[in-house]
Amino acid sequence: MRLKVGVNGYGVIGKRVAAAVMKQDDMELVGIVKKSYDFSVEQARAAGIRVYVPGEEDMKAFEAAGFSVAGTLKDLLASVNVIVDATPGGVGAQYKPVYSAAGVRQVYQGGEKKDVAQLSFSSLCNYVQALGAVSARVVSCNTTGLLRLICGVNSKVGVRRARAVIVRRGADPREVKRGPINSIELDPPKAPSHHALDVQSVIPIDIVTVAVAVPTTLMHVHHVTLRLERSVTRADVISILESTPRIMLVNAERSGITGTAGIIEAAREARLRYDVPELVIFEDSIRVDGDEVMLFQAIHQESIVVPENVDAIRALAKLEEDPMRSITKTDESLGLSKRLW
Ligand code: NAD
Repeated sequence: MRLKVGVNGYGVIGKRVAAAVMKQDDMELVGIVKKSYDFSVEQARAAGIRVYVPGEEDMKAFEAAGFSVAGTLKDLLASVNVIVDATPGGVGAQYKPVYSAAGVRQVYQGGEKKDVAQLSFSSLCNYVQALGAVSARVVSCNTTGLLRLICGVNSKVGVRRARAVIVRRGADPREVKRGPINSIELDPPKAPSHHALDVQSVIPIDIVTVAVAVPTTLMHVHHVTLRLERSVTRADVISILESTPRIMLVNAERSGITGTAGIIEAAREARLRYDVPELVIFEDSIRVDGDEVMLFQAIHQESIVVPENVDAIRALAKLEEDPMRSITKTDESLGLSKRLW
């Protein structure tokens, strides 16, 4: 029997996680919860997804639009084993007592504080720790990207410390109220940025991050410096990255891609919603000096956490005890690959 899953919050992350759950042969999407009526609920219905609302008071707007909902969050919780909370940052914590009272396992997102869940989660780092847990918090998009790199390398050559400069997109494409900023804004002005603490909520590592926000909506970019436990060659690093799941190397000379616009342009042809859930590493930027590795990487903020959400569901429900088997199953179902063309 398939694991029954619900998704509360049907925005950037929720709609992608819901679609990803529908692609798993060991899971069934029972429904999603949408607070306000808009085009996306019509699209959900057209995709065969049952739409619920948070409470009875939210039904009016749907009824006015002639849309009949399947019930309330409470009804959905009564028929699922796992709920994925994809509501705006901080709202998930408010729902926690409701989820707990319903006795369902819970997956939260990176906008929540780490104490919302039993553990913070990243598939390549701590899948096994999440087995059978009641709740897990999938860390943010930037942290997911950092952790894929760090844990991927660490599994082959120990990582002693990490330093990263994070260049954050100013807003997601649909966030009209955050607008284009005319600044390279220190975000936050102090070092370290919260991303280092977020990484440490998953693995104990010496890490410092700083961040700036820039006027783009496409992707984040990081410049990362890793100090390893021993000297390596550039070829060693490329080979490690090539064999790490969910990491894609992009070579400027062969592809003509030198930045985030090129990645997204390629993804527009190759992928639904131009999603790139892989961590993209610019191969030409990889520089190795003894035990020090430096590189640029890009993160598609809207989709990178989706595979980790699927793994988190699988780990909590103990559908698969082996991390690599879950990762492979998720990646094959979602079409992750080593190239966009
Ligand atoms: P979003 O604003 O796109 O979507 C949130 C959805 O929740 C919306 O559909 C909204 O209507 C709904 N909602 C609001 N209040 C609600 C309530 N009380 N009950 C039920 N639904 C409610 O947000 P998002 O970008 O998808 O972010 C969701 C979470 O994922 C946050 O924790 C965020 O930090 C995290 N996250 C976001 C990104 C990103 O780049 N967008 C990346 C990684 C993680």
